[in-house]
Amino acid sequence: MTALPDMPPRIARLPRDHAGRPVPWFVAWIDGAPDFRVVRAGGVTDAVRFRCCWLCGDRLGANAAFVIGPMCSINRVSPEPPSHRDCADYAARACPFLTRPQMRRRTSNLPDDAVQPDGIMIARNPGVALVWTSRTWRLDRQYGLFDVGDPTDVRWYAEGRTATRAEVMASIDSGLPLLRAEAEKDPRQDLALAELDRLYADAMRLVPGEDHMPEVVQ
Ligand SMILES: [Zn+2]
Repeated sequence: MTALPDMPPRIARLPRDHAGRPVPWFVAWIDGAPDFRVVRAGGVTDAVRFRCCWLCGDRLGANAAFVIGPMCSINRVSPEPPSHRDCADYAARACPFLTRPQMRRRTSNLPDDAVQPDGIMIARNPGVALVWTSRTWRLDRQYGLFDVGDPTDVRWYAEGRTATRAEVMASIDSGLPLLRAEAEKDPRQDLALAELDRLYADAMRLVPGEDHMPEVVQ
């Protein structure tokens, strides 16, 4: 098992839950305790308006980083606002949901007003997470999703370490039929499928190469 990475100072300053885990800025506190599955009231709007990091709450610089699943490298959308890259790297490596594929999303006992993101979301644990750094991201207000823009840097993680090409491809290949099924429902199916092929080819350029070996990131 990979040891937990060191916390960036901005993450170390966050409040802690009962187990001593840092509580990200976006997390809602309910009856005095953080619920990691629930976004704080107005969280997305405030993050965009004040340009603050989704994870630590400090102001973002020119580069911002999204923690996304592999399929989002194809359709280039995220339901969540971006973070500092060091905060995003930490989350991608330390967050149990992202780093332990066998963990399931828990959706029981959610408050009634828990936000469900719009658009096509794939409700399964991808196992592989990317940190997608971009200067050209924007909020698509019509769909309430973030267009993650063109990446200046992409890092792939699995189980708290750099992901292998095989892991990345397994994750993409398992999710691609879902995107294809959505494209096939489009009234202009041929165009939608051609667009998906183009997006897939673009994503393939970002996948680590054959000689990419896992490494333990210190
Ligand atoms: Zn941050």
